[in-house]
Amino acid sequence: MNQPFLYLYLVILCSIVYCTDGCNLSQDVIKDIQSYQPIVNNIIDLVTKGNLKGKLYKDLALFVDKFGSRLTGTKNLENSIDYLLELMKSYEIDNVHGENVVVTRWRRLEEYGELLEPRRDTLPVMALGSSIGTSNDGLEAEAIVVRSFDELNQKNISEAAIGRIVVFNEEWTNYDDVYAYRSQGATEASKKGQQTYRDNVTKIPAATISKENAQMLQRIQDRGETIKIRLNIKTETLENGTSRNTVGELVGREDPEHVVAITAHTDSWDAGVGAMDDGGGAFMSIYSLIILRHLGLQPRRTLRTILFTGEEQCYCGVNDYDAVHREELKKFIFVMESDEGLWNPLGLNYTAGEKGGCILKEILQLLKPLNATRADYVENVGSDISLWTKSRIPGASLMNENGRWFWFQHTDADTMDVMDSDQMDRAVAVWTSVAYVIADMELEFPNEFQ
Ligand SMILES: [Zn+2]
Repeated sequence: MNQPFLYLYLVILCSIVYCTDGCNLSQDVIKDIQSYQPIVNNIIDLVTKGNLKGKLYKDLALFVDKFGSRLTGTKNLENSIDYLLELMKSYEIDNVHGENVVVTRWRRLEEYGELLEPRRDTLPVMALGSSIGTSNDGLEAEAIVVRSFDELNQKNISEAAIGRIVVFNEEWTNYDDVYAYRSQGATEASKKGQQTYRDNVTKIPAATISKENAQMLQRIQDRGETIKIRLNIKTETLENGTSRNTVGELVGREDPEHVVAITAHTDSWDAGVGAMDDGGGAFMSIYSLIILRHLGLQPRRTLRTILFTGEEQCYCGVNDYDAVHREELKKFIFVMESDEGLWNPLGLNYTAGEKGGCILKEILQLLKPLNATRADYVENVGSDISLWTKSRIPGASLMNENGRWFWFQHTDADTMDVMDSDQMDRAVAVWTSVAYVIADMELEFPNEFQ
């Protein structure tokens, strides 16, 4: 068969079995999903033009102005959780309650850095979460700059690193790779100072400096000049405390036992006010329920918002939820997490099997009015929910234009001015629509892990 005929043949075949992107969902399923277009349009209209336009931004601003940062283990976080519980109750969300969780408690007390050689200047530093402090008098040493773990492991550099401050000036590639320097940098550097105690890595303090200063130190070293730094870091690890996961739901009208979960986290680091990470995600998760309430929509299955606590420090909230709700989790059909920004939405990143992926692609077609129709498979979705999406429950996170996320994450710059009211409205419209359709459509979302 020559090519034009082959193409025609495929087109005819495709139109017979309704295939798009290699999917062959039954016509009933496609029709059922398409029947939600008027509801999705109502959701979009309500938040982008109607009564709720701009409300998500305004209410998040009120929240972060009132409470500021929400470090795990603080009274402030607990007060903010009380506030969110009351907020949900005021909109008559079902079964609003907190669930106690034991959390670790770390906090920073003081931190100061100074460049001593080749010239004197302050060197802004921020201790990494769970880092130990320096001795009371601080720490003064020459520094060595490396671009990677591989470079640190070269024999001459390993030897030169002993007794020095190691500065990682790693290049940005992607979060997972670069995160390794944040999470493993101190361990890798400590091994160099402990050549004879390899099994027993001593804890050494770890702190971040700005990218600009890391590059400056690299240039100074490349010129063959000596770098000397003074650090004074004081942190404290307290006894475990109690926090709460924050839960509310719209009980399913026909099949309440099966649950679609909409999640985010309430806690933040102490830098900035956690407007973006993850105040925005928490408010979007609550507002999805509020929007549906506003429209008088009660889904077939239960839609449950779970705002985990202690994500930043220990994943304490999700781990506790997993242990306590082990049996019930078998009836979770889909989990969603918003912890990667609420900028202009593009669609979803998801982890699901082939059929699940096809269903999501079809659902995302409903978001054409917002041009947010992408559904991209990713190996593993989410932060808290990755506990489940790796092997147990299909799930998704919001794909959005979040290229600036890492400019602000876990820094003093995580404030309201990184948020955009119109983009947040569009994001919550996508989030609410997807959650509702999955919870309400006739076909139960397939769990292809089982
Ligand atoms: Zn987060």
